[in-house]
This record gives sequence, structure tokens and C-alpha cells, in this order.
Amino acid sequence: GQVEIRRALLSVSDKTGIVEFARGLADLGVEIVSTGGTAGALADAGIPHRSITDFTGFPEIMDGRVKTLHPKLYAGLLAVRDDESHLAAAQDAEVEMVDLVCVNLYPFEQTVARRGVADSEVIENIDIGGPTMIRAAAKNFAFAAPVVSPEAYDAILDELRDSGRKLSLTTRESLAAEAFAYTARYDTAIARWFAEKRGDDFPQLFVRAFEKVTDLSYGENPHQRAAYYAQVGSPTHLLSNVRQLGGKPLSFNNLLDLNGARLLVREYGAPACVIVKHNNPCGVATSDTPLDAYQRAFECDPMSAFGGIVCLNRPVDAPLAEALVRQFIEVLFAPGYSDEALEILSVKQNMRVLQDDENLPLHLAEPDLKQVVGGLLVQDRDLDTQERAEMTVATRREPTDREWSELLFAWRVCKHVRSNAIVLARDNASVGIGAGQMSRVDSVRIAVEKAREGSVTGAVLASDAFFPFADGPEPAIAAGVTAIIQPGGSIRDDEVIAAADAAGVAMVFTSRRHFKH
Ligand code: 5GP
Repeated sequence: GQVEIRRALLSVSDKTGIVEFARGLADLGVEIVSTGGTAGALADAGIPHRSITDFTGFPEIMDGRVKTLHPKLYAGLLAVRDDESHLAAAQDAEVEMVDLVCVNLYPFEQTVARRGVADSEVIENIDIGGPTMIRAAAKNFAFAAPVVSPEAYDAILDELRDSGRKLSLTTRESLAAEAFAYTARYDTAIARWFAEKRGDDFPQLFVRAFEKVTDLSYGENPHQRAAYYAQVGSPTHLLSNVRQLGGKPLSFNNLLDLNGARLLVREYGAPACVIVKHNNPCGVATSDTPLDAYQRAFECDPMSAFGGIVCLNRPVDAPLAEALVRQFIEVLFAPGYSDEALEILSVKQNMRVLQDDENLPLHLAEPDLKQVVGGLLVQDRDLDTQERAEMTVATRREPTDREWSELLFAWRVCKHVRSNAIVLARDNASVGIGAGQMSRVDSVRIAVEKAREGSVTGAVLASDAFFPFADGPEPAIAAGVTAIIQPGGSIRDDEVIAAADAAGVAMVFTSRRHFKH
């Protein structure tokens, strides 16, 4: 299982640690072969090496486009060292074996990330020889080793020193796995650049690569393993610029709920508070102050808010912190905290306190994905925000201005509630939410039941999809709802409109629905 490293090829764009690594190899008596720039760095440090030109007998040409692409090198990397015919072929062609390649690639991702960079420069940064060497050594990990990250240099030198210049099979196999992940990511970045340049459909999707941000202690349930990955190259993700100031590590369910909460709170410019439980909002309010928004969001459904995610779009001050510590909150998310507020919150040892450092808008250009067995369903995100002018009034009575503002508030909440979704709202706060029922009638019943004594009177109702029958809105109207917003479009719209008209209720049709599953 051990392979002795006698000769190594070093060719790196990122020269971090390369001199120390080369010195370590040279001290062990490993022969070093190197390309132009890397060789220059080694020469400056006085480390003995051969040039690739000397090794292949072929010059580096075409501005570096062809440096290492030579059969002598590839035969030396790919030869099966215990195959007689391979060895005979190597001897005939005067091939020298190469047992290790240390390569990192032209900085393609960094080049693309620069503003206003010319296409020609991007293309010049597509490395050809580097990935080829890496993949050759990785394929032949039975006899060779690819090293692609400077972080690995020390451990490799340690192993070589401890074992008489040898690397174990386990080490070589793990280096090979890392090598293919590295070249895959590299090609992914290239494919993505092309797709974006060409305006292909969902370009971010078929060239997606993710990298692990953190392991999670478990998934939705303790028997499921889990981790959080962020998309490579995405300008923002759920936790970018987010700092945890206190509390236990974030869990899988925390992150899922935080995602929902952040998407909902971004709908509002005014101070807003969203409380999420099991991926549904159980309280949403906007107000003049974040304290009032929190209190009214909490009042919507205090029982469900227990152990919820509280998400705010304004900093937390001391009075708000006093109110927050009275409840059991799993995660608190806000763009800032006063020192006093942090002091007050610190009594809640377990509460995960998150600070959104830059308060950046989430980058939502990427499509929404839902995984199915062996595949993905892909769609645009539902970022639709309709204004009053795009809606029609279906009933004899028009909503009052106050009702209009309540209806638009409720409609925005409704988009973030799992279907069938019914939202009752009053004074820019949800007062009852019915979520995730298989029948719309049940969602209405739950929303009305959730609304506390008296709070349905004068409230408005939003429904994420049309009412197929009048039995949906009727109980809400009976309980005191004065205005309704829904897509319309049922073949029985007439019955639904008649039920509203009979009660003097105003009803708005949006012609657009917001299913969320
Ligand atoms: P150096 O700075 O040593 O001149 O060049 C190192 C870089 O060249 C590495 O990033 C390596 O991947 C890349 N490289 C090595 N051989 C070739 C080749 O034949 N063609 C191209 N395009 N890049 C190469």
C-alpha cells in the first residue's frame, strides 16, 4: 500500500507555502521538476530543481498555453508500475516516473469575480495542463499522488518524513478524491460563466456547486445526518454576513425556519417582526416600532410562538430585549443589538442570537428547487409583489383605504404560508393563520379559531388560491371579516361573490395565486 515518492512535479499559480513544501521534499531527496513561474520561486529560494523543458525536452510555448502537455510527462504519471508492458513502453520512450504532482490552477473564479474583466482574460485563465496533470495523478492514485491544496503540504511532509519518503494508500486515495472535487469545481465555474454569458435557462442550476459551511448535529430528526452548504460563488446566502452572538449551535430546523422568516420579513420596509414555527409564520406585524411589531406578531398566536424563530428588520433595543426574554425563543435574528439589549438577552443562555452584519438584501435570482426521488423540480422563485392597481374589485362594495392596506399586508403574508393558506389580519398584524391544510375550509376554520376573542371583527382575509365554493369564506364572514383578497377564477366565483355581497363584504381578485408547498 505504500508508494515511495522519488520525483515530484510542482506547478502552482497560488505560490502560498510552495517554497517550504519544495524545501521539505528536496531535503528528503525527492527530485523536483517545475514550470516557469514556480521554478522562478524555487530558484529565488535556492531550492534545486529541474525545468519542465529539461524533463520533456520540449519548450514551454504559446504564452504558457502549452507547458506540461507532453506524452513523456503523462506516461510518467499514468504508468501502472507493476505492469511489464507499461514498464517496457516507458523504457522505450525514455520515460521518467513522476510520483507526485503539486498543482493549483489558474485563478479562474477570482478572475471572473473582478468587475469589467474582458472575456479574453477570462478565457486565458482556463487552465488546461493543470487539471490534466491533477486528473492523471488522481486516476493513478495506486502509484501516484495529486496535491492540490497548500493546506495539505505540512501533513504530506510529515507523513513522508515519518515513513521513509512514502505515502500510504489511504492518503493517496483521499488526495485523489480531493483532486477530482477540485477539478469538478473548477469546470463548474467555467460552465457557469458560459451559461451566464449566454443567458441560458437557470444557468445557476446545472452548473451548481456547493461548499460546506457547517456540519449540523442532525437533520429534521436526530437519526438523520445533516450539514449546511452554500452555493459556490453566490453573492449572499442564508448565513453570509450573519454572526452568532450567543446560544446553542444552529440546527437544521432552525435554518429552515430562518430561511422562511427572512424571506417574509424582507417584504416590508416599515419595522416588521415575523415569528416562524415549523416553516410557517405564526405571527407577522408591521408597526412604527420594532417593539410594537414584535408584541403584535406574538399576540397573533402566543401558543404557537413558543420555541419559534423571531426575525426583525430593525435593531433590538433594551425595551424590546426585555419583552423578548419573557418568551421561549429558539432563534433571534436582527440587524443589530444595543449593548444594553445584549446584556438583557444574555440571561437566555440557549437562545441563538444572530446579527445580520451588513443587512444585505438576499440574492434571490437563483431558482427555487424541490427535490424529488432522483431528480429536481425547478421553478422561478415566487417574488411576485402586486400592487392595488393590478387587482380588481369583484363585489358591489369597494374596500375602504384602510381595508386596502390591510388586504395588501395580508396578501404578502399569505404568499409565505404553506397551502392551503388563509391569513386573517387587522391593523397590519396577522390575527389568525390557517396553514398547510389539505382543504381550504379547514384552513379557514383554523384561522378563525386561532384569532382571539373579538379580533376577527373588522379583520380582512387573504386566501392563497380561489375558493371553489362559498363554504370557504362563509365562516370567516360570519365571524366578522369585512374584506377578502383572493385570486378568483373559480367556476363558482358567482356564488362566492354573492355570499360576500349578501354580507356587505368587499372582495378583491388578484388573478394571481401563491401556492407554496
Ligand atoms: P508557473 O507559474 O509555474 O509558470 O505556472 C503554473 C500554472 O500553470 C499552474 O496553475 C498550472 O496549473 C498551469 N499549467 C501547467 N501546465 C500547463 C499547460 O500545459 N497549459 C496550461 N494552460 N496551464 C498549465
